[in-house]
Amino acid sequence: MAQFINAKENLVTEAIEGTLRTSGGKLARLDGYPHIKVVVRADWDKSKVALVSGGGAGHEPAHVGFVGEGMLTAAVCGDVFASPSVDAVLAGILAVTGPAGCLLIVKNYTGDRLNFGLAAERARAFGLRVEMVIVADDIALPDVPQARGVAGTLFVHKIAGALAQAGENLDVVTKSALEVIENVASIGMSLDTCTVPGSPKEDRIEVGKAELGLGIHGESGIEVIDFVSARDAMGVVIDRLASQVKSGPKVALLNNLGGATPLEMAVLAEELMLSNIGSDICCMVGPAPLMTSLDMRGFSVSLLPVDADALALLRSPVGPHAWPLCLDTNPVEVKAIPDGLAPIKPIPSQNPQVAEFITKCCDIFIEAEVVLNGLDAKSGDGDTGSTLAGASRALKGAVDLLPLADHTQLYRAIGLELSQTMGGSSGVLLAIFFSAVGDASSSGQTMVEAFKSGMKRVQEVGGANIGDRTMIDALAPALEALPNGLAAAASAARAGADHTAKITKAKAGRASYISEDRLIGHNDPGAEAVALLFENLAD
Ligand code: ADP
Ligand code: MG
Repeated sequence: MAQFINAKENLVTEAIEGTLRTSGGKLARLDGYPHIKVVVRADWDKSKVALVSGGGAGHEPAHVGFVGEGMLTAAVCGDVFASPSVDAVLAGILAVTGPAGCLLIVKNYTGDRLNFGLAAERARAFGLRVEMVIVADDIALPDVPQARGVAGTLFVHKIAGALAQAGENLDVVTKSALEVIENVASIGMSLDTCTVPGSPKEDRIEVGKAELGLGIHGESGIEVIDFVSARDAMGVVIDRLASQVKSGPKVALLNNLGGATPLEMAVLAEELMLSNIGSDICCMVGPAPLMTSLDMRGFSVSLLPVDADALALLRSPVGPHAWPLCLDTNPVEVKAIPDGLAPIKPIPSQNPQVAEFITKCCDIFIEAEVVLNGLDAKSGDGDTGSTLAGASRALKGAVDLLPLADHTQLYRAIGLELSQTMGGSSGVLLAIFFSAVGDASSSGQTMVEAFKSGMKRVQEVGGANIGDRTMIDALAPALEALPNGLAAAASAARAGADHTAKITKAKAGRASYISEDRLIGHNDPGAEAVALLFENLAD
């Protein structure tokens, strides 16, 4: 997969420049490119304890994104997944450390430990007060002597940052950082590996599998498990985590490892709250990308047991906008839907033939789901089949509740049912169609006339004419031929639907945004649906 980068060599410096340029003037960097990549608070006056963190790039917004009032004073960046050099760390320390001293917050990786550790030694030789803490919050590998440092590091940044901001001395800040490190636990899960810029992507995780307990540098997880659902995924993660943290109220940090969509992350947040530790989670940080691993399609959960003091520190306002706040969790508030939406339900009545006919029509659409989605994928968003099949399943399920013996009421009831169950353009158009057919039928029109009136209403509302590459191209000729029987209607619908493959300029629906060369040779899904319906009914 191509990536929006220029050259691998300049990737990190260019990203830093972009971040600085959009920081509202709150961030600056040291003049040490390419080897020394250090971002500092532009307004720093060395009057308080400085916090320095960092490590390889690829974890954005960590760490540059957390430089600012109430969090880090400086971030020292390496290349992608590579620890910064001793000189780079030393430059960072020297740039921000005043008489109050400096705390280095280091994630537990050999390279970072060594480079930050030696830099701390050298800074002390300059007469500076420097303390270093090592975060090892990953509980994935219970038997390793030294766990990795992952997203739980953010809790250290925030709590130590709040204390430093409040003017506490280096001992207090260091002690609180150590306390967080002692208590925090994290674990991650991913559905795919990450893409290291300039290297081919490693296709390690098979479709249908997930890796549990992976590092944030593309290291493989400790376990490959079957992926079933977001709920199961969160269940497994919480199973591992829950036993590793103290009981009582906790703050959860839900971290996007970089490539999960915000939509998925929101589902995971819901599952986290529904999990068996959900009731202990008094506050949540995220879901948000905090400590990412490039584009990894995964998430991690970090848990920190908290008392009132820790909570206040986690909730105090900060400058960096990458910190998503630490908000109270709450039950979902549900308000009544406004009056006027609850439809008047028609009185159900029986007619076995009509019930059978409706069921047959529904089955035709359910059968056609994949084919129609395939066509819509060519000209739209790939969901016409699912929309029609979903509505058909709902209609089939509700067939006994319909006024089957009164066709005028029946059309309206179908329109109502469709407007409730179908989304998408095809859904609302069919709902309009059936309610208009119902109106026409009640005014005494014959069935074919009523259907034509329904189509006319669809055209008025949707603005599509024959030749615009929509379902109208099949429906109009089919209704015209219907007085001659179903077989005639079916062949007219088929001819109309097949003709849409030659119409390269769609004038309605999503297809109108698609270029001509991509439309040619494919039937419009709505028109194909109409043709399949008539063909199968004629059989
Ligand atoms: P979307 O995903 O675009 O909301 P669907 O996939 O549910 O819509 O339905 C797409 C089909 O709807 C198209 O194939 C076309 O036949 C039909 N359609 C779209 N717009 C119109 C319109 N204005 N009038 C008639 N039919 C339309
Ligand atoms: Mg669609």
